Amino acid sequence: SVFNRIENVENKVDSFVTLTKEKAIEAAKKADEKLARGETLNGLEGIPIALKDNMVSMGDLTTASSKMLSNYEGIYDGSVVKKLKGNGIPIIGKTNMDEFAMGSSTENSFVKKTKNPWDLNRIPGGSSGGSAASVAAGESIISLGSDTGGSIRQPASLCGVVGLKPTYGRVSRFGLIAFASSLDQIGPITKDVEDAALALNAISGYDSNDSTSVNMEVPDYTKFLTEDIKGMKIGIPKEYFVDGMEAGVKKIVNESIERYRDLGAEIVEVSLPHTEYAGPAYYIVAPAEASSNLSRFDGVRYGYRTKEYKDLTELYTKSRSEGFGDEVKRRIMIGTYVLSAGYYDAYYKKAQKVRRLIKQDFDNAFNNVDVILTPTSPSVAFKIGEKTDDPLKMYLSDIFTISANLAGIPGMSVPAGLSEGLPVGIQLLGKAFGEGDILKAGYAFE
Ligand code: GLN
Repeated sequence: SVFNRIENVENKVDSFVTLTKEKAIEAAKKADEKLARGETLNGLEGIPIALKDNMVSMGDLTTASSKMLSNYEGIYDGSVVKKLKGNGIPIIGKTNMDEFAMGSSTENSFVKKTKNPWDLNRIPGGSSGGSAASVAAGESIISLGSDTGGSIRQPASLCGVVGLKPTYGRVSRFGLIAFASSLDQIGPITKDVEDAALALNAISGYDSNDSTSVNMEVPDYTKFLTEDIKGMKIGIPKEYFVDGMEAGVKKIVNESIERYRDLGAEIVEVSLPHTEYAGPAYYIVAPAEASSNLSRFDGVRYGYRTKEYKDLTELYTKSRSEGFGDEVKRRIMIGTYVLSAGYYDAYYKKAQKVRRLIKQDFDNAFNNVDVILTPTSPSVAFKIGEKTDDPLKMYLSDIFTISANLAGIPGMSVPAGLSEGLPVGIQLLGKAFGEGDILKAGYAFE
């Protein structure tokens, strides 16, 4: 079972922050009993799943891998958790992440550093690094991550597994500790595309508790899994083949394009002219929303509270100074700056306009193609510590993934090969609610 595997490898990989073994075994037993009665199991019933440490579940520690929430136990089940429990899917624990999902290597966790199962000296990617590592190491069969700028797809790519960020609004965010609410989306990390389709079936759907949830029928995503992609139009955006992409990554992406040609797809060059502005726009919009969302962590309502204080102001400042890590503080400072009276128009408003242009780029491209293929990450997994001193370098890890969040469209990373023994993923982007298209393209490819 996964718990045997966890016992054997967890001390090397460090994927988990919290294990909920008893509850998981209880849920698994129910599935066993059903089988013993000769009944069949539905979907992922009985299949153990790991959750990123930012998904609230009743009675379990949910810390966002932050000191600020290190003692916080959920007092309700988030909507996705409710769905999993309702479907008889055992939850085995909470996985390590960059604090409040800010980062690309999981090194910003207050708890510990997760290692890449392919090379324990390297990072697993982030911020859902624990979720990706747990699947790659066989400690979970499926995990859920959250993706604000790439945090499902990039760690999936670096750990050699599948990672799917759904369309904004497809999966409820109720019970997900918010980073940047207009970008955040929960999605599955799995060993293969079929499991991704099954997991998406299990977590998708309208939720009145999330005002941005979309009321649209959920198809059976496994219906899209066919080998035949003849005539499918795959767009290759010329702006994604930039300097800074490793030669080994470039080689595998080019081979993947040829593979699609062999499978009968039509390869079409497309242009996404505003791509170079996605990074700057993201690093204004995301911190702006984060600074607002994180204001609730004040030492009063929940989580960490400083030991000694003279008055309320000191209670706030000391709790926040001691409870948040450096990267979180950096984002709060950038966010409050770009939202401040004198700078709002120059930064935040401008970034929102750029966001609209990026969305229009995709709308135009999808008039001509079914899916878009890009690299997921410009590099393979890097060494632990390699980029921790340079936030700007770390921010570049997501140059290929953040546009999808700004545009709200779905994206999936699929393993495409190895470069010097380390996994490389390709990213498949689809139109809004076009998860079926990217699952189809991914299934035929793997
Ligand atoms: N690496 C990006 C950031 O630090 C994206 C993180 C995410 O998707 N949660 O903001």
